Amino acid sequence: MKRLTLDGLEALFAALRGQGFELIGPQLRDAALVLGPLEHAAELPVGWTDTAQDGGRYRLARRPDRAHFGYVVGPQSWKRYLFPPEEVLFRARRSGEGFALDPAEPPPRRAFIGVRACDLAAIQVQDRIFVHDPGYQARRAAAFIVAVNCTEAGGTCFCVSQDTGPQARGGFDLALTELCTDARHAFVAEAGSAAGAALLDALPGEAADAADLAAARDAIAHAAAHMGRRLDNAGLAEALRARLEHPHWQQVAERCLSCGNCTMVCPTCFCANVEDRASLDGDSAERVRSWDSCFNLEHSYIVGGNVRSSGAARYRQWLTHKLAHWHDQFGVSGCTGCGRCITWCPVGIDITAEAAALRAG
Ligand code: SF4
Ligand code: SF4
Repeated sequence: MKRLTLDGLEALFAALRGQGFELIGPQLRDAALVLGPLEHAAELPVGWTDTAQDGGRYRLARRPDRAHFGYVVGPQSWKRYLFPPEEVLFRARRSGEGFALDPAEPPPRRAFIGVRACDLAAIQVQDRIFVHDPGYQARRAAAFIVAVNCTEAGGTCFCVSQDTGPQARGGFDLALTELCTDARHAFVAEAGSAAGAALLDALPGEAADAADLAAARDAIAHAAAHMGRRLDNAGLAEALRARLEHPHWQQVAERCLSCGNCTMVCPTCFCANVEDRASLDGDSAERVRSWDSCFNLEHSYIVGGNVRSSGAARYRQWLTHKLAHWHDQFGVSGCTGCGRCITWCPVGIDITAEAAALRAG
């Protein structure tokens, strides 16, 4: 473990740029913290926080300090870089009597800066979903992950319930814990891969001492003790399977707009639509995959009609897939406790509250 100063953080950014990585990290845009390219540590949302999140509520506020990672998660997750909202799976052009496929482009090498533990878990979930997807696997192999341990929790966070956070426990190249007090501003850095260890060795900084490690531990424990939400997973999958005809699904549907926001912001949701597009002259065609949502009526269309024609059926599909059937399909929960679906639901429907209501009913 090493203690980095602010200069050390900037040196990390420079080293990653020097290795040819495009840096992607959180930044302030349109009154939200979103992900995008950045070059320097100062471009992070320094001195901002978003922790006062609630059902259908998201506001930024100024912090009293200059913390560089003093916020939780915004509307976007790393999904958009590993499983892009729209992707050309292949493109074919007329060639002689047939068609030739364009060669696949290598993906950009990207360094993800500030990946939280819940989102690391989500990446590991999507690794299972896309295990046979060559495009996803190539983007994943080209990614360098700089995780950040949460030292504060958001109002809709429940990673402790899902056993995914707030500390990053694997799946990263480097993990940082920011210590931002009157006495000091430093980052305790831990390597999680050979590439991360080599990079950390080359950065300026001193070995973290016992006081640094204790402060980092305390800060993460503070976040763990202040989760805004909790979800009782014990027996939940069985309880949901036993309540597929429960009247509560209809009560939720009376509020749910079927807008699909919850699925767009969710870092594990993977519904997609595939469309073939041909040029007007018939000389080329491409197959495009784009995000879809189980809340879209058309998504359940099979020959003869839509099998989930009501809002209640679509909400039931989403929630039972996340919290019950996902276990059968992928061996883990489909929910990492990031809280985005609660914050970004325009009517504040809360997965933790609905699961509890169904269990109690
Ligand atoms: S279901 Fe909601 S809380 Fe769970 S991972 Fe998806 S967006 Fe986050
Ligand atoms: S639960 Fe909320 S975010 Fe999800 S589809 Fe319904 S209204 Fe939209």
